[in-house]
Amino acid sequence: MKRNKITVVGAGNVGGTTAQRLAEKELGDVVLLDIYPEIAKGKALDLTESGPVYGYDGRIIGTDRYDDIRDSDIVVITSGLPRKPGMSRDELLSTNAGVVKSVTERAAKAAPNAILIVVSNPLDAMTYVAYKVSRFPKQRVIGMAGALDSARFRAFIAMELNVSVENIQAMVLGGHGDTMVPLIRHTAVAGIPVTELIPKDRLELIIQKTRDGGAEIVKLLKTGSAFYAPSAAVAETVESIVKDKKKITPCAAFCEGEYGFRGLFLGVPVKLGSGGIDEIIEIKLTSEEAACLKKSADAVSELCRAVDRMI
Ligand code: NAD
Repeated sequence: MKRNKITVVGAGNVGGTTAQRLAEKELGDVVLLDIYPEIAKGKALDLTESGPVYGYDGRIIGTDRYDDIRDSDIVVITSGLPRKPGMSRDELLSTNAGVVKSVTERAAKAAPNAILIVVSNPLDAMTYVAYKVSRFPKQRVIGMAGALDSARFRAFIAMELNVSVENIQAMVLGGHGDTMVPLIRHTAVAGIPVTELIPKDRLELIIQKTRDGGAEIVKLLKTGSAFYAPSAAVAETVESIVKDKKKITPCAAFCEGEYGFRGLFLGVPVKLGSGGIDEIIEIKLTSEEAACLKKSADAVSELCRAVDRMI
């Protein structure tokens, strides 16, 4: 059986750990590409040398040449600046739009049939850049954020109740920012509605902690942002595609009327399969949930219109 070829652009914290998780899960051969080839090559070599201990096969190479990513099945884009303490994700817009634009142009040429998974921030707007620049069908351009935000929400609920994280089912929709929308009504602990187990005021605190999840880590690390949970969420996304699992995961997807939005990427539940986004799952929202999602979409839309003027 031919192995999948998965490229990770950006060999920094998120890119490096993503390559590690993909290799450990044996999801395919991995190409790590960065403008600093020594860093990409060094990390690739280090990962190759971990294989015998950890017990994985698969080729891992580091490079700065787009020739090496030719015909990749999946390209994960993590290149760009991370936040500094006190910064919002949106403040990265102009710098990272340029980076994501140039990376996408070259990646789309080298791997015209690839599925793009965008990770760079501000996430929803950067996914929009990749979509516009690549001109790929919308099914093949995916933004990774909801999987991470949902994981954070699940982790905090598990900590609150002192139960297994595996018992928690939750879904966070909307943009990857301060306006993200955790769906309480669809949050359950071993099938029990979370509202039966956690009082409303505690739940409100957990929701705020989830919204601030990224910023809390930026504040602690001081010189970078989170990467263990983000790379775990990327690996989950890649796995759903490579194994055609049809897993329903919240991802930034291009909306053309779904949930009443058009012309922007927004975190919505999607079914992930071998072709990328199989479908956007539309669920009925209460008027309060719909209003929160609209507020989130308005914030994303503003960034997308700013991007339109830049690219
Ligand atoms: P980092 O600084 O550790 O790594 C970024 C890497 O990108 C660096 O190695 C840099 O050399 C490389 N790079 C820059 N320009 C490039 C180009 N034109 N071509 C190839 N490589 C290039 O940052 P990080 O912590 O890995 O974060 C990467 C991005 O992911 C940031 O924008 C961050 O905000 C974002 N992020 C998103 C999520 C999410 O949930 N979507 C989570 C965490 C981080």
